[in-house]
Amino acid sequence: MDRIDRKRDDLIALTQDLVRIPTLNPPGENYREICEYLRDRLASRGFDVELVRGEGTPGDSDKYPRWNVIARYEGTQVGECVHFNSHIDVVDVGAGWTTDPFGGELKDGKIYGRGTCDMKGGLAASIIAAEAFLEICPDFTGAIEISGTADEESGGYGGVAYLAEKGYFSPERVQHVIIPEPLQKDRICLGHRGVYWAEIETHGEIAHGSMPFLGDCAVRHMGAVLHEMEASLYPQLAQKRTEMPVVPEGARQSTMNINSIHGGQAEQETDFTGLPSPCVPDSCRVIVDRRFLIEEDVEDVAQELRTVLETVKHQRQNFRYDMRELFRVIPSMTDKNAPVVTSVAKAIGDVMGKQPEYVVSPGTYDQKHIDRIGKLKNCIAYGPGLLEMAHKPDEFVGVDDMIDSAKVMGQSLIDLLKPQ
Ligand SMILES: [Zn+2]
Repeated sequence: MDRIDRKRDDLIALTQDLVRIPTLNPPGENYREICEYLRDRLASRGFDVELVRGEGTPGDSDKYPRWNVIARYEGTQVGECVHFNSHIDVVDVGAGWTTDPFGGELKDGKIYGRGTCDMKGGLAASIIAAEAFLEICPDFTGAIEISGTADEESGGYGGVAYLAEKGYFSPERVQHVIIPEPLQKDRICLGHRGVYWAEIETHGEIAHGSMPFLGDCAVRHMGAVLHEMEASLYPQLAQKRTEMPVVPEGARQSTMNINSIHGGQAEQETDFTGLPSPCVPDSCRVIVDRRFLIEEDVEDVAQELRTVLETVKHQRQNFRYDMRELFRVIPSMTDKNAPVVTSVAKAIGDVMGKQPEYVVSPGTYDQKHIDRIGKLKNCIAYGPGLLEMAHKPDEFVGVDDMIDSAKVMGQSLIDLLKPQ
């Protein structure tokens, strides 16, 4: 894989070009532009390239169309296909930058910018790996695919989910998937925990704040709900440990975040100088973000929340509530003996002379759609960059890390596609 060392400048330039196309999501800007850039690059290397719009998916509009690019290169003989999937969207810039977020500045062996780490550096590494492989092994069995997909940061519905629905990740078409998310060059990410989001609302009755006994305070009802969660649910969640090798360690159990709480009158604009009015709140809402384990069942997760609410209902008069599910993702974990895992593990050994660490992500990524819709179990996340850098100011990716992980990807292409 010395050839990849010789492609260092190309890898840097490619990463910089990708970072300089600001594909912010939301709202989903410049998807078409980055897909055309990738199409031109890969078509010039002999790939067949398709642009597919996730029409009618959340956020898709004529102003912000959800474009995806899929490139395929057929070997000289029919065989298995290795697919590299990267998301093309990046999150909001935020404050605190000392570098240009869309400048792609190269400094001390690092490329800076929004999306360098998550995950345009990984996308660039996979392209360089595939191109190097095709130069070394023009006669190979099988096929290589590279996709750049929309909206991972907002659930992936206009990207991988849409393509999976259309059969692009069916086991007949694709047999191995590597998602170059920034999990670190010496770690193999087997999957992720599950997600259950719900909105809980308590109901009350509005009245004058000087006579609260004439109304019913929804915020006090919610207070009782939160108290019950602290007393019974949180200790229960802390007891649920998993066999999944989740990193960081703190996420190796069930967790629940309370994302937001709203009750009573709406907050006023910051320039509003008046006083609030005295009203008993008739509604209070929280959004909970429960992350669950492969050992748990999603219906039990929902039931635990309902048990909290029913317990409170037995304790309080006039307690009324609604619980509305917002979002669910089933946990996913690829078998350690799956071919893509053993192949990448071997390549990490060859390139870096060490055993890989096997990890599971605390949050989800596009593997969920490949698993659930595509029915493809032979999928991992493997790519350069530090997970802790994702979504941060002065986000960067190390050039040496990209080189090493491109070598691992190239090496595992050789292993999986068995060139003549
Ligand atoms: Zn990502």
